[in-house]
Amino acid sequence: MSLLELRHLSKHFGSYKALDNVSFSVEPGRIVGLIGPNGAGKSTAMRAMTGLMRFDSGEVTFDGQAVKFSKTKALAKMGNLIEYPAIYPNFTAEDHMKYYAMDSKDPEDIHELMKLTGIDGDNFGKRKAKNFSLGMKQRLGIAIALVRKPKLVILDEPMNGLDPQSVREIRALIQKLAGQGIAFLISSHLLDELQRLADDVVIINKGKIIRRATMAEFLSEDKAQIKVKTSDNHAMVKAAEAAGWQVAMGSEDDVLITAEEGVNAQAVLAKATEANLEVQDIQTATVNLEDHLMEVLSENSTRA
Ligand code: ADP
Ligand code: MG
Repeated sequence: MSLLELRHLSKHFGSYKALDNVSFSVEPGRIVGLIGPNGAGKSTAMRAMTGLMRFDSGEVTFDGQAVKFSKTKALAKMGNLIEYPAIYPNFTAEDHMKYYAMDSKDPEDIHELMKLTGIDGDNFGKRKAKNFSLGMKQRLGIAIALVRKPKLVILDEPMNGLDPQSVREIRALIQKLAGQGIAFLISSHLLDELQRLADDVVIINKGKIIRRATMAEFLSEDKAQIKVKTSDNHAMVKAAEAAGWQVAMGSEDDVLITAEEGVNAQAVLAKATEANLEVQDIQTATVNLEDHLMEVLSENSTRA
């Protein structure tokens, strides 16, 4: 059974459909990346699934129980950091941990968690949260999300505004915790931030889920392109189309053919020769992953 399951979730803001029939699940112990451009509906989906916001239709189940607006009983084993952590300016890191633990933890457990999340060091100590850097606040937010021993932690854009070093540290922390069996759902508008972290990827655009895959599957898709210049590029496009290949005119007086099984530089050369075209240049280029994501997003919007 999935740990978290969203089925056909829809949500309107006035006449605007912010979530359109959203379905996906999070399996125990997996790190799932929820990726989509700004305004795609990531925060809305996260607020709905944590009972922070009403939704119009559909169902959310977590750990076998239905999640409903403001019914938090089902959510005891779900930690979250959505938008900004609820941090009190005059509390120290430890004050926050004690406050959010709500008697559910003994002091030793709290200290262990503080150590694990790196909020026990000299930097933190007796300092009040109002003096924390963004990275320190983010760390504390994650520690708070963990304090009640959750099975799932939901983090909304946890890398936002962090410097590269803090991003690496947060990533390492998430990996360590996932190694202990905690599942994560993490949103980002950048594939790059999550591609080395997430086990699974859910891509959302304009309130619709347009792709669910393992990250490995997603990263291996359509990553290469063959760029070819011939004596007659229009004829090359025609020949490629006739072969059923995905082809487009390039911007540099060349033809772009998407690599797939059986479609590689050699096959393109053979096809050109067959069509009596002179090949002037041919290269295989790797498509940058953000570009790949943009392609997936634009494919979806042209189809819609
Ligand atoms: P993301 O987190 O992916 O950037 P959001 O879930 O915040 O996107 O927003 C999705 C869409 O819903 C956006 O167009 C946003 O403007 C709209 N939206 C979000 N919250 C509200 C709200 N409370 N009232 C009206 N529109 C909203
Ligand atoms: Mg958001």
